[in-house]
Amino acid sequence: MVESTCIVAGGGIGGLTAALALLRAGVDTRVYEQAPVLGEVGAGLTLSRGAIKCCISLGLEAKLRENMAPAGDFAYVHFSTGARLPAPPPAPAKPGEEPDDAHIYRPDLHAILVDAVRAFGNDRIVLGAALTGIETSPGSVGAQFADGSSAKASLLIGADGARSAVRRIVFGEGPPVFTGKIAYRFMLPAEAAGDFAAVGGPACLFVGHGRVFNRYLVSRGRLLNCVALMRSEVWAQDSWNCPAAAEELLAALPGWHPSVLSLVRRAPPGKLIKWGIFAREPRQTWVAGRVALLGDAAHPMQPFLGLGAAMAIEDGTVLGRACAQLADLDAALAAYVRLRVPRANAVMRLSRTQGELFDTTDPADFPPKGAPSHDRAVGGFEEEGLLF
Ligand SMILES: Cc1cc2nc3c(=O)[nH]c(=O)nc-3n(C[C@H](O)[C@H](O)[C@H](O)COP(=O)(O)OP(=O)(O)OC[C@H]3O[C@@H](n4cnc5c(N)ncnc54)[C@H](O)[C@@H]3O)c2cc1C
Repeated sequence: MVESTCIVAGGGIGGLTAALALLRAGVDTRVYEQAPVLGEVGAGLTLSRGAIKCCISLGLEAKLRENMAPAGDFAYVHFSTGARLPAPPPAPAKPGEEPDDAHIYRPDLHAILVDAVRAFGNDRIVLGAALTGIETSPGSVGAQFADGSSAKASLLIGADGARSAVRRIVFGEGPPVFTGKIAYRFMLPAEAAGDFAAVGGPACLFVGHGRVFNRYLVSRGRLLNCVALMRSEVWAQDSWNCPAAAEELLAALPGWHPSVLSLVRRAPPGKLIKWGIFAREPRQTWVAGRVALLGDAAHPMQPFLGLGAAMAIEDGTVLGRACAQLADLDAALAAYVRLRVPRANAVMRLSRTQGELFDTTDPADFPPKGAPSHDRAVGGFEEEGLLF
């Protein structure tokens, strides 16, 4: 077991999972989050089978099962006719594998992780601490924060999201690049969603020409999560996300099934949010000395497979296990890179491919043969491969 201390910059799903895994491995860890209060964006999240397996290995099974719902028979549906698109039957689960992906309300997952980290001490999460500087020396690393405070540890994890300050400071990279794609997201109370499940069942993805509309229930059936993804030539806003009018989204969905349009019309005023989707090219390493990147800071991915948070959860779990099983921190970091970079970079590429397939495939022919969304291995987590 590694005897060390760790600073985690960023208290999102990735940073908290890493902190929990490291604390369980005996590493004295503190999370530094820039926001003055903890929270997650009020939206849904698909948890892959692999991410669920990781969370279970971190002692979160009971809380997770209370809060998540199996994705079950998730249908692909034609955007205008509402007909179910024929898809290959899912491959059977392997022994010991979760049978299904699951849906969860992001704030619920975040709260589960916060509680689990704080079970090691309330002071394990420091709020209002925006990392602004890093100083490295052999065997240790120092962090400076915007309020003038500082901290020192033997390891620093940059889990500070797609616009990572750690990545900029340590690897000298600029901001991520606009992909030409945007997402519209909103949530509806289930009782305000009408008879939405009559077309496509309770959880489904409507597939159009270069546009998709995903919807499923979260928060024990209380809320319907809706996300539309599409191309957009311009991203005029400086901000990462901004409110949009329902009319704007309706205009982007000409000829779509009334089931979808009626949901958009019901979006609570001011709660329809437009996001630009930004990406980076895959990096071959995420470690420099005693600084390591994790989650979106390491591999921001396009959301077409819904696996970004799942990869962050896998990253944190693997890093914790490497620290638990290896005596030396540098060896643990080398194992982390060896085990995680190929997997996460492959999923980054597949997420981009999936987005391109939505652009180029006639909806009636979706999913085309070999679509990443229908490869069961993509969302799995192969523990047998974890040889430290
Ligand atoms: C439309 C859309 C749908 C998605 N759907 C899914 C899905 O269904 N399933 C899935 O697995 N993934 C999904 N994703 C991807 C997922 O949201 C991200 O991959 C995931 O949230 C990344 O987690 P993270 O902890 O690495 O980063 P973040 O969630 O971005 O967290 C970073 C944290 O760091 C903090 N921070 C930033 N800068 C600093 C600083 N300088 N100092 C201290 N703290 C700092 C931030 O405040 C934040 O709390 C989706 C993404 C989009 C855009």
